[in-house]
Amino acid sequence: MKDFKGLTRSEIINLLKKDGLQSFRGDQIFNWLYQNGAENFSEMTNLSKDLRAELNKRYALTDLQLKQKYESIDGTKKYLWELADGESLESVYLPYERQNRHSVCISTQVGCPLSCSFCATGFSGYVRDLTAAEIVDQVVKIQADISQKEFGTPRISNVVFMGMGEPLLNLNNVLKAVTIMNDSDGLNIGMRKMTISTAGYEPGIRQLAEENDQIGLAVSLHAPTDKLRNKIMPINQKFNLKDLLAAVNEYIDTTHRRVTFEYVLMEDINDDPHLAEKLSRLLKGINCHVNLIPANPVADLSIKRPEQKVIDKFYDILSRNHLSVTLRREMGTDIQAACGQLKRSSQ
Ligand code: SAH
Repeated sequence: MKDFKGLTRSEIINLLKKDGLQSFRGDQIFNWLYQNGAENFSEMTNLSKDLRAELNKRYALTDLQLKQKYESIDGTKKYLWELADGESLESVYLPYERQNRHSVCISTQVGCPLSCSFCATGFSGYVRDLTAAEIVDQVVKIQADISQKEFGTPRISNVVFMGMGEPLLNLNNVLKAVTIMNDSDGLNIGMRKMTISTAGYEPGIRQLAEENDQIGLAVSLHAPTDKLRNKIMPINQKFNLKDLLAAVNEYIDTTHRRVTFEYVLMEDINDDPHLAEKLSRLLKGINCHVNLIPANPVADLSIKRPEQKVIDKFYDILSRNHLSVTLRREMGTDIQAACGQLKRSSQ
């Protein structure tokens, strides 16, 4: 059964046409889903009863079930969703009231196959890719939660693909979800307000540059040498720093966009000043920005956040070497909603 949540507006219209149904209703259905937050066809009361019954019979509508919601003192909310097959995943809402920015951090896979040594998601293993509908529905459900069902304010303005999973290993579904969320009469989230973060899946970076030159790219770097990166991010054994940076440079040439490099600072692992110097040399001349992320604690993993003075020193070295650098503002740590802390269960 085709799932309407995973279809673009024109795909819905074409499918109705092909199936001999009133295709001009496609716009109304799309609006019900993305302007009103309708969860099933029966709610679409300006469609005839007969049509609603027909839709119910023929098509599916993904509908994530909220299992748990956690609220941080800083306004961050974390949601644990249950999927139709019983699997679960998490997504996060991050309000930046002062900038009037309302971001969501969403997942693209149940678990993750990349096993980065510091990440809770990788630790839990990989189950499957999310469908486009399951990716879109995280945003729909969070919008419904923060406003009312008839989507009012605040409106979600930014989407980061920085939740569970490696987005570039599920790029086709991610790009489909992006198209659906971008529809100006639907969720209307600007392409340039969406960012995909990758652990460094090189072929995916090239595919992204070819297929969509508007979405932002962030690369989880975390180490400036192959020796260290091989140890903490096994994907580096397949696509080393040279391959990765070649793909990033190609992405920049094609899209003319600045890339963000994320660097999680972990005590005694990658926080030494000489690594900051190495990182500066590695990134010299690349149109980029570095986002330092003090490591967040993960149960079962022994990583530690460096002391503030070590973080400051690392920052200063990059900055002195003329890199554009920021320290990521920490949000939602008290509810385990921060970077690297998302997992598949509520424990
Ligand atoms: N797979 C993609 C998307 C996940 S993004 C990627 O790796 O980029 C999540 C970000 O949080 C990544 O930069 C990831 O490396 C980082 N992260 C993972 N574990 C973390 C931890 N314990 N503390 C802080 N950041 C962490």
